[in-house]
Amino acid sequence: MYYRAKELAMSNGRSYHLAAILRRNGRVVRVGENTCKTHPRFKRQYADGTWGSHMHAEMNVLRFALPGDELEVMRFKKCSTFSMAKPCALCTSEMRKAGIKRVRYTNWDGDWEELSL
Ligand SMILES: [Zn+2]
Repeated sequence: MYYRAKELAMSNGRSYHLAAILRRNGRVVRVGENTCKTHPRFKRQYADGTWGSHMHAEMNVLRFALPGDELEVMRFKKCSTFSMAKPCALCTSEMRKAGIKRVRYTNWDGDWEELSL
């Protein structure tokens, strides 16, 4: 599963390679990567008035989330395995709104950490 997520993340053409896995009752519902595209629902405007034009991996799968789902967010590096993938404040608040039950992410050491929602 993580191998597929990594393949997806590494082929996204960006310098950061993130993937998010949405799970429901232990089954994988959706795998998403960070992309240059933005979903209208998650449009964000920065303080200087410009609109964000990228979508985080978490956002990519949150569209398919149901309350009680679990989310895993991971960041891949070319040579080693995992790196820091802690969801940003915006994604975290969207996860709360979507009713996500549990979120895990990879930290700098490549270990899994749980996000408090
Ligand atoms: Zn984010």
